[in-house]
Amino acid sequence: MGEACAHHRHDTGLGPADVSAALGDAEARCVRRGERMTGPRRRVLELLLASGEPVKAYDLIAAYGADGQAAKPPTVYRALEFLERLGLAHRIASISAYVACSHGERAHAAAFLICDCCGAAVEVSPPAAAGLSGPAEQNGYVLERVTIEGHGLCADCRAG
Ligand SMILES: [Zn+2]
Ligand SMILES: [Zn+2]
Ligand SMILES: [Zn+2]
Repeated sequence: MGEACAHHRHDTGLGPADVSAALGDAEARCVRRGERMTGPRRRVLELLLASGEPVKAYDLIAAYGADGQAAKPPTVYRALEFLERLGLAHRIASISAYVACSHGERAHAAAFLICDCCGAAVEVSPPAAAGLSGPAEQNGYVLERVTIEGHGLCADCRAG
């Protein structure tokens, strides 16, 4: 949901069938973890999956109601917190946006290639993140989350 530049093809989101498949997987993950996929958690994840791009919290709040009703902000923020905790979504701090995780259940450091022109973000597996665990241990830290954010131009915008 970037401020659309002319270069970007907005076809990164999942279609309805893939969204419901992904929601089913997410629900199964909740059950395995002894958590509940409540209505708000499900709806926020659905919006992220359908977008396929980083989405700002206020856009989620605005798009929340199928009937065009905005959500109460705390509802959306609590849902995002939960999705992040379960690894179903990631927060990309440098652009204050959220994105559905595309890398499955295995615990992983998230790394994003972020386009500064169209706002697209691709989640990639960073070899660099593993390198933090040694120094963390030496400094007595237990790492809970690692997110690497790389900024630049995507292929579409470079071709622009
Ligand atoms: Zn991920
Ligand atoms: Zn771009
Ligand atoms: Zn662009």
